Amino acid sequence: MKKRLAVIGNGMAAGRLLDELTRRNANLTYDVTVYGVEKHAAYNRIQLGRVLNGAGVDSITLKEPSWYANHGILLEAGVRVRQVNPVGRTLTTCDNRTLPYDAAVFATGSAAVVPPVGGLALADGTRKPGAFVFRTITDCEAIRDYAHPAASVVVVGAGILGLEAAKSLCDLGLYVTVLHNGPTLMNAQLDRHGGAMLRRAIEKMGIYVRTEARVAEVLGESRTEGVRLESGESIPAEIVVFSCGIVPRTETAKASGVAVNRGIVVNDRLSTATPGVYAVGECAEHDGKCYGLVEPIWEQCAVLADVLTGANPRARYFGSKVYTRLKVAGVEVASMGLVESERDTDEVIQVIEDRQGIYRKLIVRDGKLAGAMLVGNTEAAPTLIRLYDRDEPLPPNRLDVLASPGGGVGTLATGPEICNCHHVGENALAEAIRGGATTVTELSRCTKAGTGCGSCRGALASLISKHAPSA
Ligand SMILES: Cc1cc2nc3c(=O)[nH]c(=O)nc-3n(C[C@H](O)[C@H](O)[C@H](O)COP(=O)(O)OP(=O)(O)OC[C@H]3O[C@@H](n4cnc5c(N)ncnc54)[C@H](O)[C@@H]3O)c2cc1C
Repeated sequence: MKKRLAVIGNGMAAGRLLDELTRRNANLTYDVTVYGVEKHAAYNRIQLGRVLNGAGVDSITLKEPSWYANHGILLEAGVRVRQVNPVGRTLTTCDNRTLPYDAAVFATGSAAVVPPVGGLALADGTRKPGAFVFRTITDCEAIRDYAHPAASVVVVGAGILGLEAAKSLCDLGLYVTVLHNGPTLMNAQLDRHGGAMLRRAIEKMGIYVRTEARVAEVLGESRTEGVRLESGESIPAEIVVFSCGIVPRTETAKASGVAVNRGIVVNDRLSTATPGVYAVGECAEHDGKCYGLVEPIWEQCAVLADVLTGANPRARYFGSKVYTRLKVAGVEVASMGLVESERDTDEVIQVIEDRQGIYRKLIVRDGKLAGAMLVGNTEAAPTLIRLYDRDEPLPPNRLDVLASPGGGVGTLATGPEICNCHHVGENALAEAIRGGATTVTELSRCTKAGTGCGSCRGALASLISKHAPSA
């Protein structure tokens, strides 16, 4: 008889886990049910900016409802799991159903952090109209419904998500001001020069940026009318979007007696200490770390699928080296490892091309890459990611790794790696193009390239022109 696998959450981790399970023929062992609070089937959260920008939900859908049915998976969309009872191996849903499971996976992701500023709630405890976060399709639709042409918006937080929200809102024709409490934009990934370069590019788009600006209060009686800064200054705005970080969603795990620290604590098998209960994605804490990017999540899903199906009983997750490559508000950015040198013996190589808006920096320790950042041109990113990930020695002339885009990356068989999220090389893409893929969507469908962070979609379009068979 088949076992019952319950996946709690239907975000990017769950979607990827289902792919990995399908690849291992898990349907022979398990009847899988996926429970997701959101009413949508799995979508690409990374590309939410498109929905904010006016695109339809279809444009970011990863799996149609029919995909689940075709793979024998039951999708319970719009259903929150309230509690898991690990002793009786049952779970309770928000509509008070109690359902059996044999193995359960928490893939509950994160929630947006809203800082404890004054004036956020109305007298009845509800959030003041005009104050939003940017995490789900519902958030994007609510912002779009509320916004009117030429409205003023304040985005609080200049990390990846805040800048992404600012760009989309600016494209909608709104007046956007970004407030950041530190001196440097994207300070988790960029140093002073990188942050300044990014700031200039963003300001050129018509977005106002204020650093060292801390919000104390949301102004307005019955709706948002602006924000007051700690300095006492007021900035008028009809809309405030908070983008101040994320926190793992652990409420259901906690209610179920599953061990939670910052995230749901898992071991190298992605298993919690509660028998039959696993966790994966942003909600999971492995070796004291919770991750907020998809690449580590992809690695976790592959291991968990091996563990659950027994395809590789020795599979283990040992943590991930994190790197970021994305388009922030239209500007290409890549970053990995250290942002600043830490030791006297660290070598720092910086190439600043101010007029072109390009900044590149390497931090080298013991001949290996300890950190790197690229702003404005990320062609060298695949090379750097590979060197960083594999801890390989750099060539004696460090600049070589910046000068040869894609050089040395991939093998002769794969060609330079174009999609870092799915590790798709140019040769596979060229083959798909010669095989008939004529649009980026078709190319993504047959190779998966471009379906992660989406930052390589421009490169995919160029490859289509380069490799299209002549008429
Ligand atoms: C705007 C934006 C841009 C981003 N850009 C990048 C990028 O460029 N590169 C990158 O690597 N990462 C990026 N990220 C981060 C990336 O999207 C996340 O790392 C990824 O979505 C995490 O996947 P997850 O499945 O763990 O969590 P989520 O995608 O948050 O999914 C969790 C799901 O579980 C549901 N859920 C929670 N509790 C329950 C419950 N009790 N019962 C049922 N369902 C439940 C939630 O409603 C949610 O749908 C971005 C994120 C955002 C918001």
